[in-house]
Amino acid sequence: MTAQMLIDGDWTESAGGRTFETVNPATGEVLDLVPEGTQADVEAAVAAASKAFESAQWAGMLPASRARLLWRIADLIEEHADELARLETRDQGQPFGISSTISVPNAAEHFRYYAGWATKLHGVTVPLSIPGVDYRNRREPLGVCGLITPWNFPLMIAAWKLAPALVTGNTVVLKPAEQTPLSTLRLAELCMEAGVPAGVINVVTGGPEVGRAIVHHPQVAKISFTGSTEVGREIGSVAGGRLARVSLELGGKAPSIIAPDADIDAILEGNIMGGLLNCGQVCAAYTRFYVDHRRADEFAEKLAAVAGGMRLGNGLDPTTVLGPLVSQEQLDRVDGYVRAGVAEGATLLTGGSRAGGELAHGFFYRPTVFAGVDDSMTIAREEIFGPVLSVIPYEDPAELAGRANDTDYGLGAVIWSRDIGTANRLAHEIKAGTVWINLPPFLDAAAPWGGMKASGVGREMGWEGIVSYTDIKSIWTGLS
Ligand code: NAD
Repeated sequence: MTAQMLIDGDWTESAGGRTFETVNPATGEVLDLVPEGTQADVEAAVAAASKAFESAQWAGMLPASRARLLWRIADLIEEHADELARLETRDQGQPFGISSTISVPNAAEHFRYYAGWATKLHGVTVPLSIPGVDYRNRREPLGVCGLITPWNFPLMIAAWKLAPALVTGNTVVLKPAEQTPLSTLRLAELCMEAGVPAGVINVVTGGPEVGRAIVHHPQVAKISFTGSTEVGREIGSVAGGRLARVSLELGGKAPSIIAPDADIDAILEGNIMGGLLNCGQVCAAYTRFYVDHRRADEFAEKLAAVAGGMRLGNGLDPTTVLGPLVSQEQLDRVDGYVRAGVAEGATLLTGGSRAGGELAHGFFYRPTVFAGVDDSMTIAREEIFGPVLSVIPYEDPAELAGRANDTDYGLGAVIWSRDIGTANRLAHEIKAGTVWINLPPFLDAAAPWGGMKASGVGREMGWEGIVSYTDIKSIWTGLS
């Protein structure tokens, strides 16, 4: 089977005629051959998107019609929920329980949420202190937007970008991660079926070179990127150089701050979910667990007991709790961090190796818990993006905010406490785009999402999503 990509409403091979394989990470089997996009494909996609941006059909679409279009996309996602969830599980590895209850519903919900904005994108009139002048402003789309997504939640993250880009009247060139292109291609197909005009959504598959061609293209007005901080820095500097708009959703190293008064047994499940959802391949995964030194060993042992008992397997098996890592490369990376943890003196309580036996063909890594970690160790500082949890003792709660903030990242953080004063004081002191109190890392289309510091620039979701895909124009009228 060979997949095709979408340019100007046509499903097509790559201009270079080459393909690459996408693999099921649970079995190692090749799922599909996918076109290896080229510079020429990106040129064609941007040309199609530029033409569609100006078209009467798209630029002149009435707000109520645009709302119905996005609503229809959400309906189609739901009608194909089972198929999409299975596809996501096969290509990405995430258990069906995650793809069917998080990835697919969250993608549909983004289209519904932004459908609601279509009829509410109003500007304002402002009373100016200048006589004889009337002032109003309006929101206008930016033009062609380059959307570049990672491999951990491909369908959901494509929806985070597509829904606000489309509702505001932009057109897009979307590039899914090379490891997981299939659900994005299917989503694009459903968007076409919903009635999105040709050229409004283009999907060019391929690796970093396709991403670079989009980022460098002078007609791409905005880049919305989700991925690693390293690539984000490169994209930010190219976009800065040519003054293109840019939003960057990057890596994280979320602290889980467990106040001395927290009930360790009651919070265990939320911490496990936060740390090991999608096998830790979550940008906001809880990875650094700060625990009172008198209870750190108890917490680490309990965490290790639950993590060590989790059932690894093919995501399509309903008894599976943890799926594989996405690729051999990611498995090697995670294992390298675990070796560094051992070499730097952390105590390995459970996991620490690739799963064997029946799972040896897939990229399965056993959930890993380290105790006795200190802030300077590599596993406490760098983003691992795998099932590796580090328990870090503290003596004085007054150190907590400073130690949690001692990282380049600032995407998410969680605080566990029964004292509302402690929890809210820490929530103010932590430098992160999102702070959860007594919760696993929830997301909602209505709540702005994004990072501080090296975790990114800009916000997705909520009204901020609309702002990030529009420019504001001031219109001044002389009254005399
Ligand atoms: P990555 O940066 O390697 O790749 C992301 C995407 O960018 C892929 O589509 C890739 O092909 C493309 N790309 C790679 N190099 C490029 C370049 N030079 N120019 C343009 N495009 C390029 O990231 P990944 O390994 O796919 O994803 C994991 C990372 O994503 C982690 O760091 C994770 O924290 C981050 N992430 C962040 C969020 C968030 O919301 N902040 C969400 C999910 C993942």
